[in-house]
Amino acid sequence: MLRLAIQSKGRLNEESTALLREIGIDIDDNRRKFLSQAPNFPLEVLYLRDDDIPQVVAAGTAGLGIVGLNEVEEQGLDVQVVSKLGFGACRLSLAVPRSADYDGPQWFAGKRIATSYPRILRAWLEEKGVQARIEVIKGSVEIAPAADIADAIFDIVSSGGTLVSNGLREVEQVFWSEAVLISSGKLDAEQQALLDELLFRISSAQISRRKKYILMNLPQSAVEEATRILPAMRSPTVMPLAAEGWCSMHSVVEEADLWDKIRQLKAIGAEGILVLNIDKIIP
Ligand code: ATP
Ligand code: MG
Repeated sequence: MLRLAIQSKGRLNEESTALLREIGIDIDDNRRKFLSQAPNFPLEVLYLRDDDIPQVVAAGTAGLGIVGLNEVEEQGLDVQVVSKLGFGACRLSLAVPRSADYDGPQWFAGKRIATSYPRILRAWLEEKGVQARIEVIKGSVEIAPAADIADAIFDIVSSGGTLVSNGLREVEQVFWSEAVLISSGKLDAEQQALLDELLFRISSAQISRRKKYILMNLPQSAVEEATRILPAMRSPTVMPLAAEGWCSMHSVVEEADLWDKIRQLKAIGAEGILVLNIDKIIP
């Protein structure tokens, strides 16, 4: 049995539970529950505040956790990041009032900076050789300059909208974060095997998320060229059509390249092109 700590409510909750479902693990959505056992995988899910997740994993109370890399870095506890999960992207940035004449890191010398991330901020200030005062605030850091509690803030930014609506300007991007799977590093052999199975399923889901299945009718004479345009896992599948001189070609393409490939395929005579979503890819 493996225990996984996830955020009980907040920005990472929904995508953490969606990821588990995507890899075939049913979990109870009853948020009042503190601990629930998946009926179809030897996994127990522990619902916590995100701040508590690194600690619970470091202590081994949960073997695994899903949490923002920002929390892992800030707390500096003994946990291992085993996989990036591709959601919850954000950054930790310094922001100053819009009217400030910011001219580089030395601007912060002697200033007060409000943050919930003192450790990451201190490391950055040290690296830049800047002496500033760190005011630790939990929550609503962005109002600190207007309330004259601080001259600047160091906080999470994703779109930047919150900064703008508080009259602030992002001046230094310091740390990039996304949701990660962390481990205590103290798993027994059975738990390690379960973690390997989870990682295998997560990577299959991640690979398929960026790919599309494409099929089309193609003149037989264009097959060789189409194979160059569409390198598949081994090579594209080619099947004869009833119509003389035509075949059907199937392959998998990166979503980012999709429109470029379609343009090239049309140019060599492809017709009836279908693009489908892929549920899983097992390489
Ligand atoms: P909890 O009640 O669990 O302590 P919280 O209020 O501390 O929750 P949330 O705001 O739910 O935390 O954010 C959780 C994580 O989501 C952050 O630590 C960060 O990794 C990630 N995140 C992604 N985008 C944003 C954003 N725009 N603002 C805040 N967090 C974000
Ligand atoms: Mg929190």
